[in-house]
Amino acid sequence: MIRYKGLIDRYRNRLPVDDDTRIIELGEGNTPLIRLENIPEIKDYEIELYVKFEGMNPTGSFKDRGMTMAVTQAVSEGSRAIICASTGNTSASAAAYAARAGITAFVLIPEGKIALGKLAQAMMKGAVIIQIEGNFDDGMRLVKEVAKEAPVSIVNSINPYRLQGQKTAAFEIIDELGRAPDYHCLPVGNAGNITAYWIGYSEYANEATQSCTFCENKCRYECEKQTNVRPKMLGYQASGAAPFLRGEMVDNPETLATAIRIGHPQSWDLAWHASRESGGWFDEFSDEDILSVQKLLAEKEGIFCEPASAISLAGALRDIRSGKIEKQSCVTCTLTGHGLKDPDIAIQQSSAPVIKTDASLNNVKKAILDNIN
Ligand SMILES: *Cc1c(COP(=O)(O)O)cnc(C)c1O
Repeated sequence: MIRYKGLIDRYRNRLPVDDDTRIIELGEGNTPLIRLENIPEIKDYEIELYVKFEGMNPTGSFKDRGMTMAVTQAVSEGSRAIICASTGNTSASAAAYAARAGITAFVLIPEGKIALGKLAQAMMKGAVIIQIEGNFDDGMRLVKEVAKEAPVSIVNSINPYRLQGQKTAAFEIIDELGRAPDYHCLPVGNAGNITAYWIGYSEYANEATQSCTFCENKCRYECEKQTNVRPKMLGYQASGAAPFLRGEMVDNPETLATAIRIGHPQSWDLAWHASRESGGWFDEFSDEDILSVQKLLAEKEGIFCEPASAISLAGALRDIRSGKIEKQSCVTCTLTGHGLKDPDIAIQQSSAPVIKTDASLNNVKKAILDNIN
């Protein structure tokens, strides 16, 4: 048996590491690609619909893919401290990989606008938490300025090693499906992830005709026709934080989906490039729509993602219904983070019946018989 040792180990020849690099890993990547079965649109439009559940990474979000690479690189350069601005998940991830490496993580988070689970992670793993009276964009600006004056490595997605790590999610999808999907749906905040997926899909497409380590036919794809096909990249934003829809930066972004509460995306040009080159598009959703799809996914498929993640499925479903996504397509949605990150929002919006009763057989039996369908 070969123990899985994280995505750098698995995709080593596609990543900027040497044979003797000390890899800082927590077994990240290799996340489930779950085929959805119970959402009505699947049957109605004959869609093959998958979610890539990135909530199953070691700290519960896709940020771990980038962080293993960024911290590995920082350590190999002799760095003793890393720093990031964060809406929550980057701080949780940075704290974990810094702990693993034995270095210090400084994280700048917006006061009062971070999900409790994420804060707990950063605190528990020993990060130095700097809570600022400002939003993510303020934090990002400060991080860039302070990194010029203090010996700290930035591990936000402006660090190119982050995107290198994150591109491996696209590799995993192709390796598992034997082809690229027709459409790939993502939430867009800082826009690093949509950029990283596009890098990953493009790298595989460029090599599709070259020899491959996965397939005996010396072709990456099961079917020759799939060669060089890349998905259309669909990026979705919360209406209150939707610079890609407005065509310009947004100064006071607001949304319940705190992970994408960003008005000044750092990968602005790269994400536009990915969207245009792929023939994709951006769209937006209200917080209400986001929460209702988060709930739908949990109720129909048993998958609990955080609000920001649900927007990718919300987008897929709306575009399937409108015909923008063609019938009989293969669609993947990235579920960027785990629902347990933000239990407050889930409990607030849940209508699950909680029946209170005394501890008697009669009343417990009554509760069951009243609710059985
Ligand atoms: C960071 C994050 C996003 C946004 O990703 P970007 O690369 O900033 O666009 C979306 N969802 C979750 C859960 C995140 O943690």
